[in-house]
Amino acid sequence: MQKNTLDYAKQLDQEDPLAHIRREFHIPKDESGKEWLYFTGNSLGLQPKTTQEYIQQELDDWAKYGVEGHFEAKNPWMPYHEFLTETMAEIVGAKPLEVVVMNTLTTNLHLLMVSFYQPTKTKYKIVIESDAFPSDRYAVQSQLKFHGFDVEEGLIEWKPREGEELLHIEDLETIIEEQGDEIALLLIGGVNYYTGQYFDIKRIAELGHAKDCMVGVDLAHGAGNIQPNLHESGVDFAAWCTYKYLNSGPGSLSGLFVHEKHAYKKDLPRFAGWWNHNKETRFNMRQPFDVMPGAEGWQLSNPPILSMAAIKASLDIFAKVGMDALREKSIKLTGYFEYLINQIGSDKIKVITPSDPQQRGCQLSVQVKDADKSLHQKLTENNVITDWREPDVIRCAPVPLYNSFEDVYRMVEILKSLL
Ligand SMILES: *Cc1c(COP(=O)(O)O)cnc(C)c1O
Repeated sequence: MQKNTLDYAKQLDQEDPLAHIRREFHIPKDESGKEWLYFTGNSLGLQPKTTQEYIQQELDDWAKYGVEGHFEAKNPWMPYHEFLTETMAEIVGAKPLEVVVMNTLTTNLHLLMVSFYQPTKTKYKIVIESDAFPSDRYAVQSQLKFHGFDVEEGLIEWKPREGEELLHIEDLETIIEEQGDEIALLLIGGVNYYTGQYFDIKRIAELGHAKDCMVGVDLAHGAGNIQPNLHESGVDFAAWCTYKYLNSGPGSLSGLFVHEKHAYKKDLPRFAGWWNHNKETRFNMRQPFDVMPGAEGWQLSNPPILSMAAIKASLDIFAKVGMDALREKSIKLTGYFEYLINQIGSDKIKVITPSDPQQRGCQLSVQVKDADKSLHQKLTENNVITDWREPDVIRCAPVPLYNSFEDVYRMVEILKSLL
């Protein structure tokens, strides 16, 4: 039985085997030194205390070795991206061959569409969620235009039913049944950024593949949050940023997944640069282009090491904690949060995120009756950091790495007092 008391929240923290991990993060504070109640790890994750030393290591080695740091640095820069692959692959449930860290998210979506959006005159449409993140929508619209198609005709939206917010997989099934022959690609947010709904991506891959459509997922709100089992899901490709749940700093690089079944297709259309050319002969410089197998075969440039150092600092924490333990805490923490929110009463508030833990990550999107942005401002004045979405939704993500049950309790008490 859950209890709506501070003592009970504190007891849950005492029983939480991951409670101590919070101390490995910088928790922002107000001027008087009081910690914020930070619920926006879905937007920008907090900084691990080790990040500074990981970046300092590379600055020191650059100062010490100059260009020789590519080989002589403690963590040589030449293979630096490889140091991230194993943990990143574990986080998203992929094989190391299938994963690389490179570029930023939207850039990667485009590079992946170069390979996996190969429209013909009759099979060219792209399906997205009607509430897709704007950058993904713009990206697919521009791909349609780039290939000479009409955006209105080419873009199919998977929409909620009248008066609802969440999507039904059956409605996607209907879209694919009726228009599958004209659809080239499904690009779905694995966890929808707005509602927090986590889709059955394995089912989506099956539905798409049954009609020869490519299937990609954007895991910006999934990576480090849920366990998408990318390899097993069978999706063709995926990409995600590392500055949300993966705590790697503003604008940090993106992860990219290409399923093993495409790993050795050297003749897939793709863009090239020296970094997806065979490692062995890369520095012979005059060789004809010879693409590397796997996800590394989508790289173009030598990567920014300072940003990768921040990713390494964060991934080392993930490697230590493990996604199984993290997800287990996450389900409890968000469950407690949901319980407390629901105590406020449905006349004032409604959680639009699915109540089934298997259909959501840690984020809850809370619709507040008759609220406007001033509610968000008042929360902020009370040190509660949340994310406001017009017209009336606050998105709140208790992050199991650094949010406590006490955070959640205090946050809901403040919200209640403001309503
Ligand atoms: C955060 C987010 C982005 C941001 O893209 P960048 O290229 O990293 O700026 C894109 N898509 C989704 C779904 C996101 O949640």
